[in-house]
Amino acid sequence: MSEENKKSLNFIEIIVEKDLSENRNSGRLQTRFPPEPNGYLHIGHAKAICMDFGIAKKYGGICNLRFDDTNPSREDTEYVDSIKEDIQWLGYRWQNIYYASDYFPQLWDFAVALIKSGKAYIDEQSSEEIARQKGTPVLAGTDSPYRNRPVEESLDLFEKMNNGEVPEGAMVLRAKMDMASPNMHFRDPIIYRAIHCPHHRTGYKWKAYPMYDFAHGQSDYFEGVTHSICTLEFEVHRPLYDYFIDELKKLHPEDGDYRTRQFEFNRLNLTYTIMSKRKLLQLVQEGLVKGWDDPRMPTICGLRRRGYTPESIHKFIDKIGYTKYDGIIDMALLEYSIREDLNIKAKRVSAVIDPVKLIITNYPENQTEMMESINNPEDESMGSHEIAFTRELYIERDDFMEEAPKKFFRMTQGQEVRLKNAYIVKCTGFKKDTEGNIEEIYAEYDPATKSGMPESNRKVKGTLHWVSVSHSIPAEVRLYDRLFTVENPGDEKDRDFHELLNPDSLIVKTGCRVEKELENAKALDNFQFQRLGYFNVDPDSENGKLIFNRTVPLKDSWSKIVNKN
Ligand code: ATP
Ligand code: MG
Repeated sequence: MSEENKKSLNFIEIIVEKDLSENRNSGRLQTRFPPEPNGYLHIGHAKAICMDFGIAKKYGGICNLRFDDTNPSREDTEYVDSIKEDIQWLGYRWQNIYYASDYFPQLWDFAVALIKSGKAYIDEQSSEEIARQKGTPVLAGTDSPYRNRPVEESLDLFEKMNNGEVPEGAMVLRAKMDMASPNMHFRDPIIYRAIHCPHHRTGYKWKAYPMYDFAHGQSDYFEGVTHSICTLEFEVHRPLYDYFIDELKKLHPEDGDYRTRQFEFNRLNLTYTIMSKRKLLQLVQEGLVKGWDDPRMPTICGLRRRGYTPESIHKFIDKIGYTKYDGIIDMALLEYSIREDLNIKAKRVSAVIDPVKLIITNYPENQTEMMESINNPEDESMGSHEIAFTRELYIERDDFMEEAPKKFFRMTQGQEVRLKNAYIVKCTGFKKDTEGNIEEIYAEYDPATKSGMPESNRKVKGTLHWVSVSHSIPAEVRLYDRLFTVENPGDEKDRDFHELLNPDSLIVKTGCRVEKELENAKALDNFQFQRLGYFNVDPDSENGKLIFNRTVPLKDSWSKIVNKN
């Protein structure tokens, strides 16, 4: 590999290349993506997915999907299904699907083996007492009074815990490690607890459930994972991960040199949104958004519904990269990525969100001219379509001003503007209704200025989009803005999260008009509405009632920042 290519590798790719070149784990590369099915995936998970699946794909390894379903109280098959759908939408295929719950028998046996060798015990103290005895990083913890209870007693109670004879919270199984360890995770961590609600896969079979630290690494081991990649908050858990793998290996000498290792990268945080599944669930449950796929949500299904493409998400993840330092990424970079992708893909069409009538008084009443509208100036192969031009049109209400300042290059009395793909027109007057609102605007067109004709080179400063009154169709347009008003809502610990919500994150515009070309648009189709932004068809649309979501406005507030670099 050339030096140039090497430079663009991320630090985990460098590790993987080295391991493969040294034939570690017999030259195998196996990763997993391990979501807990307790919510929908968000853009942060997409970053982990691109790493776990991406690195396996790049180096010819395999990646499995493993549901980390060890806490039945919060998990559901609804989440399992959505997770599968989102991974596939991002373009990845797993080799196998596994469930941590499939390993409950092995994990149980492992726990029993630890008890038998004096390395685990049943503690009957409350979780508060246990927490109190933990000590602090500079102060050693205190031993539990149950720490040295006989093995037989712990075995018996562990059985009872699993039979449901023990109330939830009455006892836990702890690993007997080192109450003075500088690593707090070594101070006799809890490895099993009692939960009595049914599990979405195993029902009532188990009442004792392994904790994350006692399930994750072991599941990796049972599956043959070589590189267990996760986010930085697990760095401090790594010694414990390694400890349990060491213990497991003692029980499985037949596994030879095989070993799974954990690597951590920085999690994704984005401005003006949140990534905590718990809080996202709260938004959904309290009806603050219209479900997990509300286009304002940072969930993958929300982004999909908003008009984001898988390619735009890949571009974004490539731009942010993988590091060892936590930080927060500007939402504008995500928006930049979708703009960049849709610029080359989206068909340009005309839509008027806040229409006011424009009458071309010198244009024949029953005439319709079909004007050519280029589908995408960035891609000639996308061709063009026709848009009907008639005497009565709609333009945007704010493209007209009765008393315009000098630099207003749009429509105002006496001023010429070009109507996109059509003629230059000059405003001659307007009519107001009884309340003083502009009802109709009048203009005259110059037949010699039709777009594409040689004489049409006449320069005017403004170009407006429009649709024909008779050849346009009604639509609803949903304009979205950031969900929170503060840059890092997760940081505002003293303020109630409801106060931080942006009351204007959704503005619904009814009575919009779009060109007929959109009549047969299908759910999720992406378009550029000329001069306005990128929009897609919302799945709420019905026959004859089109609804569009604004994915992102055209204006590129990010480019200034990018160009500076
Ligand atoms: P919770 O919010 O409930 O603590 P979680 O966000 O950790 O859950 P998991 O289902 O446990 O969600 O995550 C699955 C994988 O996705 C893990 O490997 C986790 O490290 C990774 N992941 C989660 N959030 C992010 C994020 N913001 N950026 C990058 N990776 C993430
Ligand atoms: Mg987690």
